[in-house]
Amino acid sequence: MKILVPVKRVIDYNVKARVKADGSGMELANVKMAMNPFDEIAVEEAVRLKEAGVASEIVAVSCGEAKCQEQLRQALALGADRALLVETTVELQPLAVAKLLKAIVDREAPRLVILGKQAIDDDANQTGQMLAALLDWPQATFASKVAVRGEEIEVTREIDGGLETLAMTLPAVVTTDLRLNEPRYATLPNIMKAKKKPLETLTPAELGVDVAPRLATLKVEEPPARKAGVKVASVAELVDKLRHEAKVIP
Ligand code: AMP
Repeated sequence: MKILVPVKRVIDYNVKARVKADGSGMELANVKMAMNPFDEIAVEEAVRLKEAGVASEIVAVSCGEAKCQEQLRQALALGADRALLVETTVELQPLAVAKLLKAIVDREAPRLVILGKQAIDDDANQTGQMLAALLDWPQATFASKVAVRGEEIEVTREIDGGLETLAMTLPAVVTTDLRLNEPRYATLPNIMKAKKKPLETLTPAELGVDVAPRLATLKVEEPPARKAGVKVASVAELVDKLRHEAKVIP
């Protein structure tokens, strides 16, 4: 079984993201970038399925600028077999990515696509769902456990107040939640090996996809700065403040 794993290049989650001075978007110049954390979990799950003899090939795909090759090489170092870069300098929105992924699925015919549940830059949480709709495949989002049995896949999801387990027939789309697994680190020998693994570059035009944005970002703002707290001298003072000064924030 072939698994397709889309990986997005985003601002590293350890970096304090800054808004551009003109409020038009996030500052990306000289900022450390990384693979979206939920996509690392997706790669890890695909690698575990390969190690378990369920998957035979893992193809990583990233859509965006040429530098996305760095994240694809990381996916290859973690265990993906080959990589595809859909190269464009257009700022891609989830629907455009879903259309590109649909075109890749039509070419590659994977039985399973594992995406992150959301990209930590746009927090859209849309691409997996849109891809499933475009493909007319079943989808299980926010997976915290995945088990493949023949042509069936069981996905456990964390929902309010408990766990829900869904069964789907392959081919299917799954999106990963935080507790699905703990991704491994790439070892140095695997980083070296990844440099020799195949990485093919395509363009949206070659895939016949129009990636023009449908939405315009009007403004991006920093959240308001928090006011400094105060130290109270005693429990009595704390109780007094809670009783007379504390406000319920709606
Ligand atoms: P989003 O819908 O933007 O929150 O992204 C959800 C998931 O879709 C991500 O975790 C990735 O697996 C995938 N994805 C989104 N954008 C891209 C991209 N430009 N290239 C590859 N995968 C992407």
